[in-house]
Amino acid sequence: MKLETLAVHVGRGIEPGTGAVTPSIIPATTFERASDYDEAPEKHTYNRISNPNRAALERALAAIEGGQTALAFGSGMAAITAVMQSLSAGDHAIMPDDLYVGLRQLVQQVLPRWGLQIDLVDMSDPENVRRALRPNTRLVWIESPSNPGLKITDIAAVVEIAHSAGALCGVDNTWATAIWQRPLELGADIVMHATTKYVGGHSDVLGGCLIISAEEASELGQRLRTVQKLGGGVPSPFDCWLLLRSLPTMPARVRLQTANAVQVANFLHGHPQVSVVRYPGLASHPGHAIAARQMSGFGAMLSFEVGEGREAAMAVAAKVKLITRATSLGGVESLIEHRVSVEGPGSPTPPGLLRLSVGLEHPDDIIEDLAQALR
Ligand code: PLP
Repeated sequence: MKLETLAVHVGRGIEPGTGAVTPSIIPATTFERASDYDEAPEKHTYNRISNPNRAALERALAAIEGGQTALAFGSGMAAITAVMQSLSAGDHAIMPDDLYVGLRQLVQQVLPRWGLQIDLVDMSDPENVRRALRPNTRLVWIESPSNPGLKITDIAAVVEIAHSAGALCGVDNTWATAIWQRPLELGADIVMHATTKYVGGHSDVLGGCLIISAEEASELGQRLRTVQKLGGGVPSPFDCWLLLRSLPTMPARVRLQTANAVQVANFLHGHPQVSVVRYPGLASHPGHAIAARQMSGFGAMLSFEVGEGREAAMAVAAKVKLITRATSLGGVESLIEHRVSVEGPGSPTPPGLLRLSVGLEHPDDIIEDLAQALR
């Protein structure tokens, strides 16, 4: 079945007993055990280990991403952290130089204390990844398009380089979404999503997930599942229920938001006050050719720079009326933010960069709001 059909049906059968067409929330933290404790491994025993709502969400996420196994977490960062916790002290990982600020801070503040060695490289040239390989490289992590610079990485090329060194390759597919980009089909071992964003889609639930091409029983599956269960960074049954409730509309939302983003990008691209527009769908984007090859749509995130930099950008963000000045992305409402103000001191992001998450409003209204803010 196609992704849209899977998104509506997997994990969402008719409830036995009641005939309800939508799943129930089962908040129980614990479940009755057999008197001899001899139970099937998939039987739920304790909420942190597994529960019906999380199991249903994980089935659905694996299906839409085309993987064998999915693991749900309490946030996107908990999902990434689980990958890092599956490594060993002394291991080396290669990550992009433009990456989500939370991961950058984890790399700077936490991972060295665990004895992990990390190099950040510009992955828009895969040869930079090859040059950064070491005998102890165990993980190459891709973010494409990257946050907030929308850099594009050739996923298949980097996967091949990672595998040639015996390293795993993981892809943060949050910005691209499962609709437009299929990293597992390009050879990646792990796909990660902050489900907080397009899967949730309504700015009201935090979550993350990992999807792998390997079976649950594989070495990678077992390593990640152990971290999930014992690390305990898991989502609540209500959060899982909310994400599963939102998943059926995700393909339709993302298609419409992307169509809106194309119009917004074209408007900004032609605007005299705007010096740079970063949107992989624009022919002027340095990663456009690779994006056109590995994505079937260019997503609904873009960033742009205004005039003289910081002050001009802050002034535009201060003047928007319809678009909300807030961090995060992927929700139904358009959001704008002056990224350096969010990322804080030491951010490598250009001081004039505004990040825009294009929502589901009519594109004419979004463009009119930007036009008046730029005037
Ligand atoms: N990855 C990307 C690309 C993101 O944009 C974000 C959050 O903005 C995350 C990961 C982290 O997700 P969360 O905030 O759910 O921890």
